[in-house]
Amino acid sequence: MKTLRLREGKERSLLRGHPWIFESAIAKGGADAGETVRVESSAGVFLAWAAYSPTSKIKARVWSFDEKQRIDEAFLDGLIQKAVASRAMFHIDSNGVRLVHAESDGLPGLIVDQYADTLVLQVLSTGVERFKSILVKSLMQHTGLVRVYERSDTQARTLEGLAQTTGWLHHPEGERAVQLQITEHQWRLNLDIEQGHKTGFYLDQRESRRRFAEYAQRMAFESVLNCFCYTGGFSVAGAVGMRHAGVMPKSGHVLSIDSSALALKTAAENMQLNGFSSDHFTMMDADVNQSLRTFLQEGRRFDAIVLDPPKFAPSQAHVERAARAYKDINRLALQILRPGGVLFTFSCSGGVSADLFHKIVASAGADAHVDGFIAERLQGAMDHPMTLNFPEGDYLKGLVVIRK
Ligand code: SAH
Repeated sequence: MKTLRLREGKERSLLRGHPWIFESAIAKGGADAGETVRVESSAGVFLAWAAYSPTSKIKARVWSFDEKQRIDEAFLDGLIQKAVASRAMFHIDSNGVRLVHAESDGLPGLIVDQYADTLVLQVLSTGVERFKSILVKSLMQHTGLVRVYERSDTQARTLEGLAQTTGWLHHPEGERAVQLQITEHQWRLNLDIEQGHKTGFYLDQRESRRRFAEYAQRMAFESVLNCFCYTGGFSVAGAVGMRHAGVMPKSGHVLSIDSSALALKTAAENMQLNGFSSDHFTMMDADVNQSLRTFLQEGRRFDAIVLDPPKFAPSQAHVERAARAYKDINRLALQILRPGGVLFTFSCSGGVSADLFHKIVASAGADAHVDGFIAERLQGAMDHPMTLNFPEGDYLKGLVVIRK
């Protein structure tokens, strides 16, 4: 068994249960990609078993803090079983579920999303890559599913020295559907696991979409603007709420903006699937920032606006520029929101804390000379758990602001 010896004083985060070991913490030792290493303090005291990653700045990711634990098939199977079983506690109103959320489920670098009867995997670490076939076998066993697709085509793989790869890992003879449908809060939503973003869909916004539908009903929105709409999850949510309020199909209208034509095509399908005709929605292939400026100039106003942009700050180094970009779109959105209207605004940047995001939106309001009630704070859905030991898991944050 190979060993990683840490520098003096560098064991503190491991003793608190944090699973990452950075290059700068290591005094000596190394191993092959994905190999399990024994991590010990500068004094030689056992700290953890971890997967080694030669090319990454995060040199090792912890599997277990228990010296007696063997990192083998039975151990990994136990982790998968636990992750899958825990989702039952979360009462998820959908057959689109994140079954494994990496570090939060004790499996650093593994993402598994279930879409109806298909599993989509993303492998982001050498440790998971090494044990991939074992993990896939466990997943199939504990879910009873036989369709498994891999979407390991993200930049993060490069940092780990892994090539990007996508495709089927398992499927019944002749069955290779990549266009799937899930049912979320009784809404039918199409998605594409081959062409879509991430593993195909943004499951993390499920609860916020439900909240948006509730606001749309309670406040009987007539006009909704969904910015960065992707496949139209919030558009459907808004329209359903408006239908419950009796506004749809009368005067209600949902305008959705995205810069991806493919996403917009699916978004239009999704509106139609849920019974909304094209008289009541518009899909706009455009840049959000530019469109908001145009609406402001034209005097166009909305009862509700969703701002769910992509990650503006992929790391700490981008935070300042990201803060300006968030502020810009929030200022414009507050300006074109009717008094009494509702803004659902989000950041999925790990580097932007909930506190900072609050400050950014507040300063956008100050610049717009608009005040608002903060009705709610939002976060990712429960199947993307945050844990006490891994604060990096807190990436998605949102605010519901009612304009005064
Ligand atoms: N709210 C969505 C997820 C949004 S993901 C949901 O609930 O499913 C972010 C989206 O922003 C992506 O679809 C991406 O295509 C789009 N996007 C990124 N930059 C953009 C820009 N400048 N203007 C418009 N859309 C953009």
